[in-house]
Amino acid sequence: MSAPQRVLVVGAGGLGSPVLRQLATSGVAHITVIDDDVVDESNLQRQTLYTGDDVGQSKIERAARVLRKLSPGLSVHTIEGRFVPGTAMALLSDHSLVVEGADNLATKFLVADAARLAGVPAVQAGAVRWAGWAFCALPDSACLRCLFEDIPRDQVETCAEAGVVGPVVGVLGGLEAALALRLLQGERPGGELWHYDALKGVIRKTFVRRRSDCPLCAGEIQDLRMERYTAACAA
Ligand SMILES: [Zn+2]
Repeated sequence: MSAPQRVLVVGAGGLGSPVLRQLATSGVAHITVIDDDVVDESNLQRQTLYTGDDVGQSKIERAARVLRKLSPGLSVHTIEGRFVPGTAMALLSDHSLVVEGADNLATKFLVADAARLAGVPAVQAGAVRWAGWAFCALPDSACLRCLFEDIPRDQVETCAEAGVVGPVVGVLGGLEAALALRLLQGERPGGELWHYDALKGVIRKTFVRRRSDCPLCAGEIQDLRMERYTAACAA
């Protein structure tokens, strides 16, 4: 890899665990990880960075410790908190790309909007129960809003409510890491959408095209107004 690669990882949970592990051991120079949660025993089956000893501790602190052990030369910066509109742009403009593993749709849309406005590639994913998706957006490709339009206002099962199977987020986090590494190596997988269904035994890649009525791609969304990201949702 050429220039120093600075990756922002939003969320250090079920998706973030495999993402962080893979990136830390793949030659990435710097990782910033942001999460506001503590390690919970009920999540250990899918949050594979942590052990029973970590229960009740700050996720980012424990994650940073594991990552530094895995890759002693790695620079790790931790931010305890949520990814919010007020700081999103400054954070993104300081990174080569963002990999999102949040547990709610509001954050997913915020990451998508902020990444596009900052001109930074975004790798995103979501999973519920036995299936999920991983998606790569470049500044000139389709975005998450081309895929899902907007945050559902009435839905939605969250990952915590519906539950998600550990191996499913493991696979999707691995797919996110692969997309991120391809980006860092100069490939442009923008618009690639990977589906994984563990029950059907299917993993499939499709290509998402820009929608002409997408408010983000059409330039209608020019800022990160908080009210766009307040609906409760899923991952
Ligand atoms: Zn779009």
